[in-house]
Amino acid sequence: MQMTELNLSKQDVIDAADNYMLYTFPVFPVVATKAKDMYIYDSDGNAYLDFYAGVAVVSCGWSNPRVTQAVQQQAAEFTQNCNYFYAIPAALLAKLLCSSIGMDKIVYQNSGSEANEAMIKIARKYGTDRYGPGKHEIITARRSFHGRTYGAMTATGQPGSALQKGFGPLLPGFKYAEFNNLKSFEDSITGDTIAIMVEPLQAEGGVHPASREFLQGLRKLCDDRGLLLLLDEVQTGLGRTGSLMCYMQYDIKPDVVALAKAIGNGVPLGAMCCTNEVATAFTPVSHGSTFAGNALSCAAGYAAVSEIIERDLSANAREVGEYFMGKLRGLPHAQVRGMGLLIGLEFDAPVAAEMKQACFRNKMIVCQLGDRIVRLVPPLIAAGDDCDRAYEIMRKSIEEVYSER
Ligand code: PLP
Repeated sequence: MQMTELNLSKQDVIDAADNYMLYTFPVFPVVATKAKDMYIYDSDGNAYLDFYAGVAVVSCGWSNPRVTQAVQQQAAEFTQNCNYFYAIPAALLAKLLCSSIGMDKIVYQNSGSEANEAMIKIARKYGTDRYGPGKHEIITARRSFHGRTYGAMTATGQPGSALQKGFGPLLPGFKYAEFNNLKSFEDSITGDTIAIMVEPLQAEGGVHPASREFLQGLRKLCDDRGLLLLLDEVQTGLGRTGSLMCYMQYDIKPDVVALAKAIGNGVPLGAMCCTNEVATAFTPVSHGSTFAGNALSCAAGYAAVSEIIERDLSANAREVGEYFMGKLRGLPHAQVRGMGLLIGLEFDAPVAAEMKQACFRNKMIVCQLGDRIVRLVPPLIAAGDDCDRAYEIMRKSIEEVYSER
């Protein structure tokens, strides 16, 4: 939809949105009209270097031709599935994704939160089927983020934060332990526990990678105690951290994993993948969703996942990410951490909001996390010279922000 074709001014768009949309996060006063590869363009003709990627979603770059063509072709054939028929996009994507990440079965969903809901549900059902009622407790990590539906919100280990405050009562049967502290998880296990659920790198929580000992220790703990290991790879999944799945760098495999963001390149698509053993817990009618696995999103997903694998965007994320983090470590006032192209800069003062604004003024989009952290999650196609440009903008923005303090 273009403003000129619709005879709209920039202000018409802003007024319509401001008057009728209930915003739960702030927006810049610009209207996006086009996005291509690493750049978003606004109605005033500005180009913004995008190190946010629609919240770590646009993995293969904006308007990726293969994804666009797949969506256009599928839209002309059919979009929603007739659930009583097999459909090519869902079948092909299931085979490609499961075989590439070493999982047996997939359940499609529409978002990351829903993928986590499916993961929580299948773990509880598995516990009940196998051990009887009561085996339902799930231990998650403090500072985690798992989404905004009730199960995912309760699993989110941030009690008292705006994410949970006022929405109670939350679901029973969740406990929080300390991330990267194996003993804290071990001490939290009771006879009711069925699963441990963590992100291999806490992204929204401030870009904190799991240590090798922690994740491998959790795998062993689950094996020893008959628990399921649930990994939330909604943000880390499919190339972002420098391997197809983040767990591959830890030489472990979960029993269940949740994916979303990268796999649709901007078309809503989530997935819960699990082992054959766990898959037995879902029987006909025990789980489902009207739109999940529809032909349009799976066609986009098949194109995006094929693109990530065939172009080895994981390797690109690893190599370019290393190069970029090396450069960023030379910046003043910030500590740098991350994996691949999921990078956090923690500042020595509460300047994250100012940094986001300064970067925007300097024509780059970054993500603010709390008071002190800026997160960089560009499309996985980012090249060295995109990172050079991003580095220069960060440097200039730091200079501006700190000179004003
Ligand atoms: N899990 C993780 C690790 C995430 O980073 C997010 C979103 O940022 C979610 C779950 C929720 O995904 P969605 O917003 O698609 O529901």
